[in-house]
Amino acid sequence: MPPSIGFIGLGIMGQPMALNLVKAGFPVTVFNRTPAKTGVLKSAGAKVAATPAEAAAGTDFVLCIVSDTAAVEEVVTGKGGILESIGSGAVVIDSSTISPVASRKFACTVAGRGASWLDAPVTGSKHLAEKGELTYMVGGDRDAFDRALPVLQVLGKKHIYCGIHGLGLAAKLAQNVIQSTMVEIFCEGFVLAAKAGLKPRTMMEVIQGSMARASLTDFKAPFIFTGDFTPYFPLKLMHKDLALALESAYAQNVPMPAAAAVKEVYGAAKAQGKGDLDYAAVVTFLEELAKVQVRD
Ligand code: NAP
Repeated sequence: MPPSIGFIGLGIMGQPMALNLVKAGFPVTVFNRTPAKTGVLKSAGAKVAATPAEAAAGTDFVLCIVSDTAAVEEVVTGKGGILESIGSGAVVIDSSTISPVASRKFACTVAGRGASWLDAPVTGSKHLAEKGELTYMVGGDRDAFDRALPVLQVLGKKHIYCGIHGLGLAAKLAQNVIQSTMVEIFCEGFVLAAKAGLKPRTMMEVIQGSMARASLTDFKAPFIFTGDFTPYFPLKLMHKDLALALESAYAQNVPMPAAAAVKEVYGAAKAQGKGDLDYAAVVTFLEELAKVQVRD
């Protein structure tokens, strides 16, 4: 009998992840704050719960992937939260990108109920979530990680055990500092090239023939050149991750001058109302300042 799973959060990432678990034959009970998003999972054979507590009751694993620290707090300790029902021996696998400090507190809170907690953020975005090819970076007890692995193997192709609670999130925040900056600086370079009169495709040929080539910008470029900012990773969430990284940097006395500037660029784009677009839409903020467009 495969282990039972409660799954909380059916957003861009959670929806395909939960679907892959159902397709792999796990008994899955889902919860989403907006019930309308549960239809696909119900049709695929998942049970639908009215609260996180109901989704977590009697399950071996509780997977969670919601927006931010406040959202995790609500689904864990809020009214109808998983703390009301979580069983001794269960493992909570939280893939939300949140504050590592808060995550360690959640680990202590569920430990009080005899359950384990893993911070298990992911990288790979919607398309790799759909293919079950995410990369996991995990913090928490090694034993809980080993027990969770058969479940996580359905969702990801690489699972990196990072160490104690919070280190999975520390890795994730460092990774998103790098990714957000790569995309922002790519956009700055392309805006400069466009202003000088270069076609984006010509400039892309140059980049792809140079050491500046990266799989991330290879993936994002066609969306930027066609102005398609359908969210794979919403800009407001990238801004949130930069804020978390800088909070962490402050606490550890680590200077991050470039990340601080890049955070403000994403913040300005968000303030313009672009938060729900993909984070590649940061290009439009730079385009507006330079009065030029990077388009085919
Ligand atoms: P999303 O599409 O915006 O989905 C957010 C989910 O969180 C929705 O299910 C939403 O419910 C739920 N939620 C928000 N506030 C809540 C609350 N107070 N109580 C209960 N549920 C709440 O975001 P996403 O792209 O799937 O990202 C989810 C997490 O994964 C974030 O921490 C993000 O940083 C991280 N992440 C995302 C990507 C990516 O490429 N998209 C990659 C790696 C990591 P509703 O449906 O009711 O709004």
